Amino acid sequence: MEQNDEGLAEAGIREIGEDQLPEGDVTVAVEYSTVNYKDGLCLSAKGGGLVRAYPHVPGIDFAGTVESSRDDRYKPGDKVVLTGWRVGEVHWGGYAQKARVKADWLVPLPEGLSPAQAMAVGTAGFTSMLAVMALEDHGLKPGQGPVLVTGAAGGVGSVATAILANLGYEVAGVTGRPGSADYLKSLGATQIVAREELNETSKRPLEKETWAGCVDAVGGEMLARVLGQMKYGASVSAVGLAGGAALPATVIPFLLRGVNLLGIDSVMQPYDNRLRAWQRIASDLPMDKLEAMVRPATLSDLPQLGADILKGQVQGRVVVDVNA
Ligand code: NDP
Repeated sequence: MEQNDEGLAEAGIREIGEDQLPEGDVTVAVEYSTVNYKDGLCLSAKGGGLVRAYPHVPGIDFAGTVESSRDDRYKPGDKVVLTGWRVGEVHWGGYAQKARVKADWLVPLPEGLSPAQAMAVGTAGFTSMLAVMALEDHGLKPGQGPVLVTGAAGGVGSVATAILANLGYEVAGVTGRPGSADYLKSLGATQIVAREELNETSKRPLEKETWAGCVDAVGGEMLARVLGQMKYGASVSAVGLAGGAALPATVIPFLLRGVNLLGIDSVMQPYDNRLRAWQRIASDLPMDKLEAMVRPATLSDLPQLGADILKGQVQGRVVVDVNA
């Protein structure tokens, strides 16, 4: 991305020397990256307030093979994945064939997951796994009732739906796209909830106890509404703000129903929990379901995909082959 005379960032594909890569301990031959909501922001003309300096290489996550390393933990040929640490925002990211990063930011690719599959998961799917783990850590078990996934046809929502269904949970997916119902059912959702049913606040702070858990990618009025519909003692993992950052809620669900609102951050997540999440992804996310979510793309598709994801128009996960 480069800034034009009006100070607006424009995307383009450029060839640059390896000596122009930033400082770092490990150089990775990137194979795949992806498109997350945040990538849409970083690809926009003002960088979504996330990009600090231009020229910039966006791409908040990538998977590939270590080419050279000054850190004992990695050697040439190792398969690695990177999400978070503000890579693609403040640091140069994965929309390139090479990336140079800190060893601390990398995670070895778990056994059984290819670089393309890791990016089909990407930051969105990794965060879904963190959200499911947080619900389980707070007592969620199959058989307690339906688990709600908001923004279900998006990246976070699709992966959360597939993981939860595979673990034996009954999954209800909220979507604003009626045409995505069959897709969500193919991922394992058994109930489809129309967005209109939940995107307005209710005058009543408590409604019928309905959901045993929730992975929320939407925030805003929908999250406020869902809090009042949680079963006694149930938890909501707050992941995203696709519907808004405000939370027009009351504290009544916390006080009278012991509802837990769990914050999920994937960016600064400690290494041990990252490893645990990637291992759980390899074991608990069915690869056939993951493949059903994927749309392949190349670097030249990125400007359009970035604009589409900000409008909520991307279904599932995009896998970007940076060498195509
Ligand atoms: P996507 O755009 O793929 O998914 C978001 C989905 O939310 C859409 O597909 C749509 O689902 C729904 N949606 C969009 N706009 C609205 C709206 N106005 N009201 C209600 N629902 C809406 O994005 P991602 O899955 O990549 O990311 C989802 C959110 O999670 C983003 O806010 C992102 O920033 C956040 N995130 C947070 C992370 C963290 O570390 N906490 C990490 C990764 C993502 P449908 O069409 O089914 O209604």
